[in-house]
Amino acid sequence: TTAGGPTDAQLAAGRRAYELDRAHVFHSWSAQETLDPMSIVKAEGVHVWDADGKRYLDFSSQLVNTNIGHQHPKVVAAIAAQAAELCTVAPQHANAARSEAARLIAELTPGDLNRIFFTNGGADAVEHAIRMARLHTGRRKVLSAYRSYHGGTHLAINVTGDARRVPNDDGDSGAVHFFPAYPYRSYFDSATPEEETERALKHLEDVIVLEGPANIAALILESIPGTAGIYVPPPGYIEGVRELTAKYGIVYIADEVMAGFGRSGKWFAVEHWNVTPDIITFAKGVNSGYVPLGGVAMSEAIYQTFAQRPYPGGLTYSGHPLACAAAVAAITAMREEGMIEHAAALGENVFGPELRAMAERHPSIGEVRGAGCFWAIELVKNRETREPMAAYGGSSPEMNELVGALKAAGMLPFANYNRIHVVPPLNISEEDARRGLAIIDEALALADAHVVS
Ligand code: PLP
Repeated sequence: TTAGGPTDAQLAAGRRAYELDRAHVFHSWSAQETLDPMSIVKAEGVHVWDADGKRYLDFSSQLVNTNIGHQHPKVVAAIAAQAAELCTVAPQHANAARSEAARLIAELTPGDLNRIFFTNGGADAVEHAIRMARLHTGRRKVLSAYRSYHGGTHLAINVTGDARRVPNDDGDSGAVHFFPAYPYRSYFDSATPEEETERALKHLEDVIVLEGPANIAALILESIPGTAGIYVPPPGYIEGVRELTAKYGIVYIADEVMAGFGRSGKWFAVEHWNVTPDIITFAKGVNSGYVPLGGVAMSEAIYQTFAQRPYPGGLTYSGHPLACAAAVAAITAMREEGMIEHAAALGENVFGPELRAMAERHPSIGEVRGAGCFWAIELVKNRETREPMAAYGGSSPEMNELVGALKAAGMLPFANYNRIHVVPPLNISEEDARRGLAIIDEALALADAHVVS
């Protein structure tokens, strides 16, 4: 047990929580009885503690959402103050917390994306963004990328391009998938990032033309795909997507649920390319998940579609005061404490150089890539063939061993297939960032041992 760690009562509650969890809680994306959830009893800043009192450096930000770290005092206080004043108000009324959150978000989003529809999270933001695009255009199809994640509800999982879509695919969702630009695993046999951009855009235009532009309501794309591998688009790709969608009258939905609110060192990842989409979907970092919140930021043109005609959709908890008060406080704290600038500097000066140096030392690293506090280490068994350390959509004994070693060394990692993601809170100190990287560096010896050359 570390100093400042949980009390005996918290530890006992954590052990009981584990037993009750196993008896009654049904978990996401899991075979229920093969799961062994960590019981978390306390969290503060970049650390969490389990029911044995062991402290972990949270290099996952939970599900890449706790951008301001755990238990930020200003946000905890804002939620408490809002709870004391007004806990709930129906969406048809106006409310100070909601209005102020909308104003702040409108101020941060690019261009004329100044109208905000609030949801409870990312998936429902995606559902509503697509519904708005369909009503705005009178078209139905939705283009989306393979190797993407857009959420677990019906339409959101159908536009998703990840292994989890397949068992949910109803074949009638209107989703049409295209191959995105991904230089390390190019579908187009490109030799350079520039060639990848050119070929991926040519492919996308072919898909648009062959599917019939008059049938395509929207294109949804993560500005920097997150869960699918933080594969930063090559130069010109996002600009090209903006041009093609404008050319064919397709609503461009930038899904910034994971990349947004500072994760990549900008408020929104589209800013890396100075692009303004028609819609931005957001969630996670908007209030670091202290209270569930997501939303859709839309252009004036989309908004005008519903100026005189009712928007057919809504949620009881749209713009919930507790969630919006948390957003106001989280955004204000991020601004006052310079968290976006700090994340950008960490990416430039610590994560980028250190991970690239690690890639020199470890033959198991195929590629490192990212920006800000948003990095992926892609592990391979063979650098020449790029054979992944775990197959797409699956796990492997090698990856399980690595993740086990990271946890044993006191880290909570985010791992997906053959990748370890480096996604700590944006306000992590340089010292803690380097400590986490050192843990990964040491554990990678295990992965190196599985390299065949
Ligand atoms: N879109 C992206 C890019 C995401 O990363 C996620 C979640 O990871 C979602 C949508 C879905 O968000 P939620 O899990 O809040 O429904």
